[in-house]
Amino acid sequence: MFSFPVELRKDPITRSWVITGDDPAESGPRPESACRFCADSGTPAHVIATSPNTPGVPWSARSVVHPTPLYRIEGEPGRRGDGIYDCMHSVGAHEVLVENPRHDRHLWNAGDDEIAYFLRLAAERILDLKRDPRIKYVSLFKDYGKNAGQEFSHPTSQITATMFVPRRVLYELRAGREYFVSKERCVFCDILQQEERQAQRVIEVRSDYIALCPYAPRVPYETWILPRNHDASFERTGLNKPGLRTNLAALLRRTLQRVRSVTEDFHLVLHTSPSSIHPSKNLGYWKTIDDDYHWHIEILPVISSKARSYTFKEVYYSPVSSETAVKQLREAKIDG
Ligand SMILES: [Zn+2]
Ligand SMILES: [Zn+2]
Ligand SMILES: [Zn+2]
Repeated sequence: MFSFPVELRKDPITRSWVITGDDPAESGPRPESACRFCADSGTPAHVIATSPNTPGVPWSARSVVHPTPLYRIEGEPGRRGDGIYDCMHSVGAHEVLVENPRHDRHLWNAGDDEIAYFLRLAAERILDLKRDPRIKYVSLFKDYGKNAGQEFSHPTSQITATMFVPRRVLYELRAGREYFVSKERCVFCDILQQEERQAQRVIEVRSDYIALCPYAPRVPYETWILPRNHDASFERTGLNKPGLRTNLAALLRRTLQRVRSVTEDFHLVLHTSPSSIHPSKNLGYWKTIDDDYHWHIEILPVISSKARSYTFKEVYYSPVSSETAVKQLREAKIDG
């Protein structure tokens, strides 16, 4: 399945998992071929789901197995130690969500109904992957633009299902739980209440959703979209309330248009609650999860002139292993 071997390694200091291996494609440009995701390129192998899923109705969004998956569903994690280090095989799932059958219709210029179909597909896939008891977390993300590491030219997002909770989400889950323990309130709801009252950082309110710039941004123009009413799980709302889905689609489209007035390149990530089938005794985050966590979308624009001032990583992925890197560094020509 893999085009190159990868494995998961745990940083013993921060306890966060990274994925690493030697990607041969990194040593040269990938060959360009016809777009494999366009509607007229036929039905690719490994279609997992479509939206809408109605016989005779053409698809608006669909999910396919990633052509070179970083995580695969078969096999055992084989978690093992090596001295103080931990590693395991990259068991999980890696899917491409084709947002639109057309090559030129993106989340900022497609119809709200089309974007709503994409959101519904995303919710269905997250819910389905969460049914696997080995899976701890399902991530939805999109990298757009050459400075954001865009992988395909067709409008796509990606989903990964992992046996660990990505670092940033884990921080949020821990912080949300701690806040709830001391105040018995959701920290995100409290943020929303203050932001709506102060109205200094709110970009737009649309029905039950709000777009705002966070008080302490990690990158310039960082933007969040949240439901205004408390809700821990995107996939629950995304599936059950079509009217809400259309409002979210419109707000997402409009917000991306705003971001694109600043820069074309951005990362987008959905943060939703972790799998509740896999309660981790070490973390204890599942007990009050429905009360203390609040799903949201984060958009992190990439402004190349300021690129040195920040980094963005959900799960660190190094396309060069340390074993390879060390050789290169040892052999590097240096002065003195
Ligand atoms: Zn295409
Ligand atoms: Zn809340
Ligand atoms: Zn978040």
